[in-house]
Amino acid sequence: MPEQNQEEKIIIIGSGPAGYTAAIYAARAGLSPLMITGTLEGGQITETQELGNWPGEPEPITGFDLMDKMKKQAAGYGVRFQNDTVLAIAKHDGTVTLQCEKGTAEAEAVIISTGASPRRLAINGEAEFWGQGVSSCATCDGLFYRKKRTAVIGGGNTAVLDAIYLAGLCREVHLIHRRDGFRCDKYSLDRMYALAEQGKITLHLGYTADEILGTPGDGVTGIRIKSVTDGKTEDIACDGVFEAIGHIPSTKPFPKELLDEKGYIVTGKDETYRTMTAIPGVFAAGDCCEPVYKQAILAAGDGCRAALEAESWLGTQRQ
Ligand code: NAP
Repeated sequence: MPEQNQEEKIIIIGSGPAGYTAAIYAARAGLSPLMITGTLEGGQITETQELGNWPGEPEPITGFDLMDKMKKQAAGYGVRFQNDTVLAIAKHDGTVTLQCEKGTAEAEAVIISTGASPRRLAINGEAEFWGQGVSSCATCDGLFYRKKRTAVIGGGNTAVLDAIYLAGLCREVHLIHRRDGFRCDKYSLDRMYALAEQGKITLHLGYTADEILGTPGDGVTGIRIKSVTDGKTEDIACDGVFEAIGHIPSTKPFPKELLDEKGYIVTGKDETYRTMTAIPGVFAAGDCCEPVYKQAILAAGDGCRAALEAESWLGTQRQ
């Protein structure tokens, strides 16, 4: 924990691929960055079981291992880490002040790389059985369902990969998606369809999740699904439900002037510093400002750009 109110040159908020990349570049530029990691060190990607498309890793790597390597690399260049959560940000007289859970931090420049967090379904039974059979992380909780029955909801890469992962553990895997096709890379999709042909994954296409069923105290016993064509419902018996329905940007601590209508941080308005936000000296990178292509490699690239631009901008402030 740094001394209170000691002004840093640069603070990086968030410890996902964007944050670590920004930190590595900033450290190598001599900016001695402080990273405020947030509660989930390594970010959402630590919940991905298998990354097969990270360049330079010929064998699939877990998100956790990838982030562990990034952290070691950043630490090797002298990045300092503060396990804390930012609650608010403001700029006065050239200093950016961060109100954190454990105190206040100040910097000349800040890079926000807070990522995005899992979206929730908001259906009956979800809140009641959250952590007692309902989860958004198959990698974290899948082992609890060895030889049991599970359901996965969603139709993107995460849902398809979760279903593949659970098919290797569980007695039954039901993949429930509201459309008749998936939004997923072909390689993973082909693997999922192969498992479906072998009976290891059962597809329920054209269905939404209507209610999580369970017994208070004992947890989940099933899921009620509803046809999007005729509204008919059907109950599927299962012990665990995994929600994989996308993400919402983790930008609650930041003022409205920085955000678009969906809560993503807006960058790209300044022609020179394209990662700069509406507050001069506050930059943003990664999934917190990317509504479409939530890829670790793009977040990392974005973090690199934000650090280079912050370094250049800091240079202009000292002239
Ligand atoms: P995503 O691509 O946004 O997919 C979310 C899925 O959830 C969509 O199928 C969506 O359906 C569905 N959905 C959203 N709200 C819903 C609701 N209320 N009820 C039911 N279904 C709902 O999210 P993601 O799968 O987490 O992936 C995010 C990004 O990370 C993507 O760009 C993905 O390619 C990437 N990713 C990559 C890897 C990898 O390469 N290894 C792994 C994981 C994720 P609709 O299609 O109807 O909107």
